[in-house]
Amino acid sequence: MAYYNDLDLSTFYDVIIIGAGPAGLTAALSLGRACYRVAVIERQKQGGLVSVVSEIVNYPGTPSIGGSDLIKQMRSHAEHFGAEFINTEVTALTDMEDDIKTVVTKDATYHCYGVLLATGAPPKDVGFKGEAAYRGRGIAYTAPVDGEFFTGKEIFVIGAGTTAAEDSVFLTKYASHVTALVPSEDFTCDAAFWTRALEHPHITVIKNIEILEVTGDSLIRSLVWKDRASGEVTTFRPESGDTFGVFILTGHLPETGLVRGLVDLDALYYVPVDRRQRTNLPGLYAAGDVCSYTFRQVLTAASGGATAALDLIKFVYRMQTKVGICPVQPVRRATLHKTVDGAPGGESLEKKSLFAPEMLSQLYTVFARFEKDLVLHLFPDARPVSGELISYMNSLAGLEDKLSVRLEDVTDDEPEFRPCVRVEYTDETPCGFAFHGMPGGNEFNSFILGLYNASCSGQAVSDTAMEKIRSIDHDIHIDVFVTLTCTMCPDLVTAMMRIATLTPHVSCDVYDLNHFQSIRERYNVMSVPCYIIEGREPMFGLKSVDEILEVL
Ligand SMILES: Cc1cc2nc3c(=O)[nH]c(=O)nc-3n(C[C@H](O)[C@H](O)[C@H](O)COP(=O)(O)OP(=O)(O)OC[C@H]3O[C@@H](n4cnc5c(N)ncnc54)[C@H](O)[C@@H]3O)c2cc1C
Repeated sequence: MAYYNDLDLSTFYDVIIIGAGPAGLTAALSLGRACYRVAVIERQKQGGLVSVVSEIVNYPGTPSIGGSDLIKQMRSHAEHFGAEFINTEVTALTDMEDDIKTVVTKDATYHCYGVLLATGAPPKDVGFKGEAAYRGRGIAYTAPVDGEFFTGKEIFVIGAGTTAAEDSVFLTKYASHVTALVPSEDFTCDAAFWTRALEHPHITVIKNIEILEVTGDSLIRSLVWKDRASGEVTTFRPESGDTFGVFILTGHLPETGLVRGLVDLDALYYVPVDRRQRTNLPGLYAAGDVCSYTFRQVLTAASGGATAALDLIKFVYRMQTKVGICPVQPVRRATLHKTVDGAPGGESLEKKSLFAPEMLSQLYTVFARFEKDLVLHLFPDARPVSGELISYMNSLAGLEDKLSVRLEDVTDDEPEFRPCVRVEYTDETPCGFAFHGMPGGNEFNSFILGLYNASCSGQAVSDTAMEKIRSIDHDIHIDVFVTLTCTMCPDLVTAMMRIATLTPHVSCDVYDLNHFQSIRERYNVMSVPCYIIEGREPMFGLKSVDEILEVL
């Protein structure tokens, strides 16, 4: 356990996903949504094989979208649910049989309970000029997905195996003619697979060729190859100047170098997984093209990512319970889709909200009166309550533009202070009050009233009370101790916070004693509400604004 005591919580995640393609991004979305801390590590600036594809037409709900746009949308969706992105290359996975696993990158080392390998299986390069440049702009890799784009046009198939043989025949559905260019002297599979192609009236098969080059403008306009035996060079250029398709069906290279020796791989180095995307090593999952699937598409990759995430949610929960360490929950971005009807201005928060509809309408009524911008300054520790605090405050900020969240780094160094939300104005001037713990339960209303009182003229205060508050000419600090189930506490807290928002001389820190056992013991607090003015003897019971002013 010494090792875990040294664990750096800033680099500790519930799940680390390697690869920001459709599989990794879908998993990140689901895990973030389940309030797990998840990092996606991607070595490219924008991940995903499909990023280079000009148009995708087979992703449900999006009849036509650029590959890069689809990946951007998936990433933004995952970020919305708090997924973090790290731009570097993973170079090693260690401690993989331990509860807490280590992910080594070129730049730093991270720890996590679960790892999802979503590294893909890019097509093998043939190695001719223009191959990379025309990827997705005439050079294609999947006949069932891209064949349709070449309806009525010439199609060339490069390959010598079963996929090349079968897809040559399949592509005659669309092509005016198919030419299969076989790079080797003979087929690399049983010749029987090629019988249909060889006998097909709209297919020409040419063996033992070397592809030299594709050229064109925004699309391919010519293809050059050489007969390896005779050395004869042939250039294909449609007379009409039209474009055409080149399908490279020479196989894929699964990116499984990181897990070789760690998990079982199949004969072609893909990762076998079960129906929940689990490899044979507990805590190591795989999804997308890197797996031993039959089909490799955006949708099948996304589906694998979602399945892995759903199982990881259970796996990580078991690990958190066993090890007793919880990474801090992700910070959710404010609003992505403004879909709840009937909110002020016709726009509101996303459907999934922490707040019930009736509570929302009350919140909107209060927020509508806000005048000054407020910052919810958060000081988390590594306890689950910090995750709750972050989620809650972020959700509140998502409802009202005048509220924003500022998050400090996680540390366990201040056990009698954290977790804490301190309310400030945008110039960092304190509004006078802070809540230690998570202001939920009966304290939710008092906290919202505190915000209301800080942001605008707030709740009415009698002239006499106002006069007394204005006459306070020295600093007074009050600690208030509550529990979230106490029914009298909120009124005392509201009164304390009201005074604190009216004068810079009074500050008030409220503690949910359930999270601050040492404070409870030090002051021997056996009943709540309890408050201590300027470190004097604890006082108990409910007090109004006027009564508090009497004792100040
Ligand atoms: C030209 C082309 C066109 C296509 N068109 C379509 C189409 O129209 N429709 C369709 O459904 N499918 C299409 N596909 C297939 C589709 O792109 C894949 O099935 C899909 O991208 C697989 O997703 P994935 O998440 O498994 O992997 P990928 O999208 O390949 O993503 C894997 C990511 O992991 C990253 N990575 C790998 N190793 C590391 C490491 N060690 N550290 C950090 N990062 C790492 C890679 O950089 C990559 O970004 C096409 C494929 C190609 C090549």
